[in-house]
Amino acid sequence: MLTFDDFAKKWKIDPAPLKPVARRYPFRLHSYFEGLIHTNDDAIWKQAVPDAHELSDLSGFEDPLSEEKLSPVPDLVHRYPNRVLWLVSDRCALHCRFCTRKRRWAESRSPKNPPDLKPALDYIAAREQIVDVLLSGGDPLLLPEERLCEILSKLREIKHVQIIRIGSRVPCALPGVISPRLAAMLSQFHPLFVNIHFNHPLEVTAESGRACSILANAGIPLGSQTVLLRGVNDSETVLAELFHKLLSIRVRPYYLMQMDLTAGTAHFRTPVSTGLRILRTLRNRISGPAMPHFVIDLPGGRGKMALLPNMIREINDKEMIVENYTGQSCVYPLLEGEQEALKAEMAAR
Ligand SMILES: *Cc1c(COP(=O)(O)O)cnc(C)c1O
Repeated sequence: MLTFDDFAKKWKIDPAPLKPVARRYPFRLHSYFEGLIHTNDDAIWKQAVPDAHELSDLSGFEDPLSEEKLSPVPDLVHRYPNRVLWLVSDRCALHCRFCTRKRRWAESRSPKNPPDLKPALDYIAAREQIVDVLLSGGDPLLLPEERLCEILSKLREIKHVQIIRIGSRVPCALPGVISPRLAAMLSQFHPLFVNIHFNHPLEVTAESGRACSILANAGIPLGSQTVLLRGVNDSETVLAELFHKLLSIRVRPYYLMQMDLTAGTAHFRTPVSTGLRILRTLRNRISGPAMPHFVIDLPGGRGKMALLPNMIREINDKEMIVENYTGQSCVYPLLEGEQEALKAEMAAR
């Protein structure tokens, strides 16, 4: 782990102007991920290094998804009826400057004094409609192995919990932590899925590839969640390369996420049209299984909403004119009387 002073010295930047930023939102970076930085303004740098904009941004919310309000017991977010998000860890391998849970960075507890698991387990056990539990944090894969094993065992004792998903950035940001032993422990709890946070092709290295192959070889289906970030990955070339590379290390792109409206992160936000444009052009460049859903997690905890580019150019009484993957106009015939229903379905799109 690098201190901010060590980092600043190594990269020959003046730490003074960024100290207040790092005081409010602590710096956290391991030398593995630091080693992916090529220049002091590149896509890896921007994700990890404090920026003065974090303090000058007065837009946004501390808790844009109202996670605290949607928590019936501490650290358990219950938004959708059938699934819950359980924040089981308060530590990450990296403090992503655009993190949606920046508000929790300061609260890190000592690992010797971990929170009580009982309230969340009791809540889940008492509700049969909860069939899917997502573990996140912080990063669950940074928990002591016995602690994670205990959480998974206790979840598996609850009959109605069918699916367990772990959200992690460890295979990307600190891949050395992923060992065959950890993967073997996880594989006792199938069906168990791991979703990994990757944002840039530079993050797909021999080391992260090795970590993913250990997990995949343990039978764990791997997905990715990518945040669309201004100046980091908001280009079809970068994302086409990232999604293809992920597929080639057996990680299936799952979500491309619009930035949340988190305080201190406005400099990363892209227009919604950027995501739609990228999605439209990616169709022509990458394989179907490399295509993620583009989602906005709606403010106030209203849920994730997937957006698709509108490929329909015109609807008349006989046909619709659509755009294909190369941008060419194509005709598709309609059933008789279908026009109005199709227009209604497409109304706001
Ligand atoms: C994202 C999220 C989920 C899981 O959503 P999926 O679309 O099923 O991956 C569940 N609960 C909360 C609170 C979430 O933010």
